[in-house]
Amino acid sequence: MSTSPAPHAPAHPPPDPQLIADWTCRLQSAGDEVARLVEDLVAANAPALAECFYGGLLKDPRANRFLDPDQVQGRLKPSLQRWLRQLASARAGDVESLHRLHEHVGQVHARIGIPVDLVGRGTRILKEHMHQVIGATADATLALRASLHLDGLMDLALESMTRAYARSREAASELDGSFRLFSLIQNVGTERERQRALLLAWENALLYALTADQPGPVENLLVSRSEFGLWFLHKGMASFGETSETRQVGELAERIDAALRERLPGSGSAAERRALLDEIRGWAAEIRNLVGVLFEGIGDLESGRDALTRLLNRRFLPTILRREVALQANTGRQFAVLMLDLDHFKAINDQYGHEAGDRALQHVAAILVENTRGSDYLFRYGGEEFVVVLGSVSRTEAVAIAHALRRAIAESPVLLQGGVRLPLTASIGVALQDGHPDYERVLARADAAMYQAKRGGRDQVVVADGGLPDPPGQRALRG
Ligand code: GH3
Ligand code: MG
Ligand code: MG
Repeated sequence: MSTSPAPHAPAHPPPDPQLIADWTCRLQSAGDEVARLVEDLVAANAPALAECFYGGLLKDPRANRFLDPDQVQGRLKPSLQRWLRQLASARAGDVESLHRLHEHVGQVHARIGIPVDLVGRGTRILKEHMHQVIGATADATLALRASLHLDGLMDLALESMTRAYARSREAASELDGSFRLFSLIQNVGTERERQRALLLAWENALLYALTADQPGPVENLLVSRSEFGLWFLHKGMASFGETSETRQVGELAERIDAALRERLPGSGSAAERRALLDEIRGWAAEIRNLVGVLFEGIGDLESGRDALTRLLNRRFLPTILRREVALQANTGRQFAVLMLDLDHFKAINDQYGHEAGDRALQHVAAILVENTRGSDYLFRYGGEEFVVVLGSVSRTEAVAIAHALRRAIAESPVLLQGGVRLPLTASIGVALQDGHPDYERVLARADAAMYQAKRGGRDQVVVADGGLPDPPGQRALRG
């Protein structure tokens, strides 16, 4: 796993052929003299460019959330210099990989939530600085051509980044939206039946009231005051979102309530009330159908949970980690990620069959639930891999929980059919969030620690040290 791209990272979109063609054309048409001048000047001025770039960005208070002074000094400035040299020295054959690299950077910016205007400001600062350098070095004609070439390169880089940035943000907000929906309606099937029953209960109460001599106060009969009506207003609309069905349900409910308010007080005869009731029941039947359609539309959200273990599906992991990163930035509460992989699991399948393996996975999921807190998130990450996100923990607490999980798994064998007691063990990697805004890092560190636990002999906990592994994108690009 640590050698392959992080599986939940958004896939690279296919390269944009127009952008590739324009970039290639820019490099081919610059001419040797201009290209070399820009390359040499950028290389010679890279340290100064990195200084003014971060100097400019750090003036913005929003940048403090993303830029830790130590990281800026130790890591980000050198990496900006490398990027500038790479951008300025690229040749036509490098364009596709350069484009991919920039798309990756855009994805990282999106994950971190760097405001896109800050990135724009950064490139503007770089351009301005380089224009001065170029102007002071070359004659006017050459300087103009070199400045245009440099601007073109910067613009192409920014365009590549922004393209991936926009896509990643869209995908993330869609996922956040579906998680919201998922967390509101935990069990779609049960909720559908419950709301159906509540709507029928309201209809029955109305029927009863309208056939009685004294229907009572009209306010008590309104659908908007019924339990179904309240649920629809507070949860249903939020969960289903703005669709034509939700709008129609809202309109029908208003129509029902308006009819009750207008006609009930004056409807003296049984026949008049009967007519009112029939009309309202027609509208209520429409509401029932529409709500059925709405529930059907979100039926597949049950896949938010893994079918075998009932733990969370990994597709919500980015949503949760992004929230935890933001929570830590706002409240200082640290979180930890445990990466847990069962040991020699293949042998269990081989020896006892796939069903026994499934049973073991459910058993481990139950142990995870029992030995974590209600505020922790439990994910089935892959076949026999689990991720636990521990919110608001100290390093000591996170490590203690990891040890408790390891012990609980090792000490509770799975009971198989025929009374076989099958022992299980797990290797666990622990990583504390270190304040880095990119959640992929904490995940990669937990992953690396888990592999270390495997190499160390399995059935053990390894805590990731402060050292940062390669950014996942570099892993991805290498793979
Ligand atoms: P290691 O200690 O190195 O982790 O060894 P391992 O055998 O656990 O690791 P490996 O990755 O080689 O094998 C994982 C196995 O998990 C392979 C696959 O058949 C099994 N597996 C994955 N998903 C499921 C599942 O849903 N049910 C069952 N029964 N087995 C599964
Ligand atoms: Mg595995
Ligand atoms: Mg395994």
